Amino acid sequence: MAVIELKKIKREYRMEGKHDSLSKDDADALIVHALRGVDFTAEAGEFISVMGPSGSGKSTLMNILGCLDKPTSGTYTLDGIETSQSDSNTFAYIRNRKIGFVFQSFNLLARTTALENVELPLFYRGHEKNEKKMNTQLRKQRAIASLKQVGLGKRMYHFPSQLSGGQQQRVAIARAMVSDPAFILADEPTGNLDTGMTLEIMGLFQELNRQGKTIIIVTHEPEVAVYTKRIITLRDGELVSDTKVNNRRDAMDDLEQWKNHSLLAEPAAASQQEVAS
Ligand code: ADP
Ligand code: MG
Repeated sequence: MAVIELKKIKREYRMEGKHDSLSKDDADALIVHALRGVDFTAEAGEFISVMGPSGSGKSTLMNILGCLDKPTSGTYTLDGIETSQSDSNTFAYIRNRKIGFVFQSFNLLARTTALENVELPLFYRGHEKNEKKMNTQLRKQRAIASLKQVGLGKRMYHFPSQLSGGQQQRVAIARAMVSDPAFILADEPTGNLDTGMTLEIMGLFQELNRQGKTIIIVTHEPEVAVYTKRIITLRDGELVSDTKVNNRRDAMDDLEQWKNHSLLAEPAAASQQEVAS
């Protein structure tokens, strides 16, 4: 069964203005057609990049996929649930249960440890209507398991400011996975990271995908998209290409090469250290 099925998705933004008093052409100019009928299906286990120039509709599509926004028309079926018909409570429930979000700026709570950040989605779960609160011990166990999965078992009690950017993004990925969502949705997840950390995070995504996680990332960087399995491209609100990535690169291999290369590229720094010691 498909995890995601979008059919003829359109999203129009109506701009402020007195539509009624305008000629048809002028009234049309007040409507932005951000998505013009997008059809798209993703199966479990896929790893997809969404690309396209600025203004092509990536964020609009991401908001719809993430159940943060509803399309003007068309249907979105997520894990067998037809979301377009759902009320706002169900919509919020789907968002909390079915989707793991990862953002460019990590969005971690600053005064809260890595562990507590990862527990948060499970904590909110207990506050939903008609739902049993999750047992404190179970919540902690699940968060610890998730942090171990991203290689941060030894950093659980660190605060975000005590972690590198790459480690903070790992915490965010652990948080996204803790509720065992139908898919992970990441918006420019490496946008704030340097080359080494970018490779580390893409390596982690590749590893999680090998373990069966379904992942969709929005990125404008072709260097990042080469680590995914499939690239869809938007232009002016339309899906203009959908291609399989052939000879996919391995991010951990590239990280090793990059490390060796950057060590070789810094002989000056190395010799200075010798002088100092
Ligand atoms: P991208 O993320 O690829 O840069 P967006 O999805 O943000 O593209 O935008 C697609 C189009 O929709 C653009 O023309 C943009 O100006 C327009 N748009 C996006 N959000 C809104 C909004 N809230 N109101 C009006 N127009 C919008
Ligand atoms: Mg955008």
